[in-house]
Amino acid sequence: MEKTKTDHLLGSTAYWTAAVRARESERAVSLFNDPWAKMLAGEVGMNWIAEKTPESVIPIVLRTRFFDDFLQHVTGELGIKQVVLVAAGLDTRAFRLNWPQGVRLFELDQPDVLAYKEEILSEAGAKSACERQVVSADLTLPWTDKLMAYGFDPHQPTVWLLEGFLFYLTSDIITGLLDMVTSLAVPGSWLGFDIVNSHVLTSPLTVRWVEMQAQAGAPWLGTMDDPVAILAERGWKASLTQAGAPDAHYGRWPYPVIPTTMPNMPHNWYVTASFGPV
Ligand code: SAM
Repeated sequence: MEKTKTDHLLGSTAYWTAAVRARESERAVSLFNDPWAKMLAGEVGMNWIAEKTPESVIPIVLRTRFFDDFLQHVTGELGIKQVVLVAAGLDTRAFRLNWPQGVRLFELDQPDVLAYKEEILSEAGAKSACERQVVSADLTLPWTDKLMAYGFDPHQPTVWLLEGFLFYLTSDIITGLLDMVTSLAVPGSWLGFDIVNSHVLTSPLTVRWVEMQAQAGAPWLGTMDDPVAILAERGWKASLTQAGAPDAHYGRWPYPVIPTTMPNMPHNWYVTASFGPV
């Protein structure tokens, strides 16, 4: 399969999401086009997706497009020039989105995942559409100094994205990560991430997916029942949405729509937040 294997089980999850992007990119009418996703997903990713129904992975498709739009809005209309993809995995947004001139994008992930990605993208002749810097780091340990050593400017507003990542971490690691991001945020910065609430771990509507994750060695551990409050404590003003809501439907959500903050229901939220006084 892959030229570089990762021993870290969570590295495999990067192949899975790349495979979702590969399958979506093959649709006649797709929500995004990632021409490198199939190569990056490799055998591991394509075998994984072969066993999944289109409906089961639609939240990942909608999430990808939602955060594509978020990043394009924040760097386009709002003029933010610094982007950090935390746990970027095999994300190719640096290559496939239309970035305004002057955007600098940092990708953080495990060294073996990034090395594999660089090898595949370079063989494919992919050209980044912005200034791009990869930074290998264990994100469960302090990494902010390393990011700055690679040229991150802590004095300018930044958009941070933590996509498909936080539910793999324990709560203390999640809050530590949010604290690290906040320590580098200046007013006007933005943050996006997806997170599940605790009902997802037990609800009959979602438990099969949760069990699949655990059986595959990448259990979902981290939840947030009130992301708005957790972010407010750190100076962020957050909004929540989820797959199927009007701003994250894209004509593709196949199920009834549950109101975004309906109590006692499972939620897989897409969170966006701005930092500092508005
Ligand atoms: N954001 C990408 C996406 O949505 O396709 C990747 C998501 S993938 C599901 C999770 C990523 O987290 C993997 O690329 C994995 O290598 C990374 N990861 C997990 N634990 C990590 C750690 N301790 N340090 C750095 N990266 C980590």
